[in-house]
Amino acid sequence: MNLSNGRPYLAIPGPSVMPDDVLRAMHRAAPNIYEGALVEMTQSIIPDLRRVARTAHHVAIYICNGHGTWEAALSNVIAPGDRVLVPSTGRFGHGWADMATGLGADVQLLDFGRSAPFDLTRIEQALRADPEHRIKAVLASHVDTSSGVLNDIKGLRAALDAAGHPALLMADCIASMGCDRFEMDAWGVDIAITASQKGLMTPPGLGFVFFNDRAAAVRATMARVSRYWDWVPRAAPEQPYQYFGGTAPTHHLYGLRAALDMIHAEGIENIWARHDVLARAIWAACEVWGQGGPLTLNVADPAHRSRAVTALRLGLPYGAQLRKWVEVNAGVTLGIGLGMSEPGDPDGKGFFRIAHMGHLNVHMVMGMLGAIQAAFVAQSIPHGAGAMDAAAAVIAAGSHA
Ligand SMILES: *Cc1c(COP(=O)(O)O)cnc(C)c1O
Repeated sequence: MNLSNGRPYLAIPGPSVMPDDVLRAMHRAAPNIYEGALVEMTQSIIPDLRRVARTAHHVAIYICNGHGTWEAALSNVIAPGDRVLVPSTGRFGHGWADMATGLGADVQLLDFGRSAPFDLTRIEQALRADPEHRIKAVLASHVDTSSGVLNDIKGLRAALDAAGHPALLMADCIASMGCDRFEMDAWGVDIAITASQKGLMTPPGLGFVFFNDRAAAVRATMARVSRYWDWVPRAAPEQPYQYFGGTAPTHHLYGLRAALDMIHAEGIENIWARHDVLARAIWAACEVWGQGGPLTLNVADPAHRSRAVTALRLGLPYGAQLRKWVEVNAGVTLGIGLGMSEPGDPDGKGFFRIAHMGHLNVHMVMGMLGAIQAAFVAQSIPHGAGAMDAAAAVIAAGSHA
């Protein structure tokens, strides 16, 4: 007997669930990449991507994952020896910092741990302590996917302005875009990056770098930029191949086109609102489970939690047991703890993450929570009673009559 037979549910923070419309759009013969429908479709994708990022500025598309967009963005504005300030709230902040180090940047890290958001006062102090304006850019994770921390990017812009500092504001929105509210232009973000496989519901393999005219002006001062990562021809191509620095990622583009159609049909404000209700339902269940057992939400203050991913600590041996039980018995795959080692748990196996990004609705969230509820019972893991009711109450309050 295998209770997990049925539709599997990948609830890890990327890749996310692919909608059937996206999969269907990709299932076709290889197209002409030089002219015709594919080229026109690529052109149609550009303004629709801008709408998702809430920007009127430029976008360059890369055939890469999120790590590639880290490097792409840095390569256009950071030369070896340039200083970058990296406020970090988890593994992904450190990851972008490490990518900058690899490119020869002089990295100034401000580590805020892995369960608290940016301390904007400390960031402002660090900027004020740089009167010669050696810091060329601030690299900020909007959502750190390892910790589930949501950072205040608008507030970070205010801190830069209060310090009178001209550094570029660069935001990693790989987890957040299409899930948590993000407004590139209104918030004064100079460069925003994202990738296809999270809120954009398309398989991993496409990366996006949005940049404004301030960032373009910095790019223009660079002595040398890697030909492949250079955003200039990609954002303003004279030939179709220049969008991608080579062969177009044909089937990813069909998938992305379908995903953008879904996003615009629903409306980005409605998407953010849906993610908000579903995330709060998950948190409500987790809080109740935690009242009668060891489960804790990694980020205590809901205001600083992402609507895309939630990191949880269950401790050893339960964390790994629970993830395994729901995968084997319920067809639900939860995310592993990432960068969460602690004394007695060097691999962070006491942690796990629930992704709630992209193509998901109430029955998926309640099914996933129900699977966790069953795991608590099956594994005799101590937990509070009434979690499903708590989640249902949030959903009821957020639903239509
Ligand atoms: C997923 C993610 C990345 C890395 O993306 P990959 O596609 O795994 O390279 C970087 N930053 C954030 C915030 C992410 O969520």
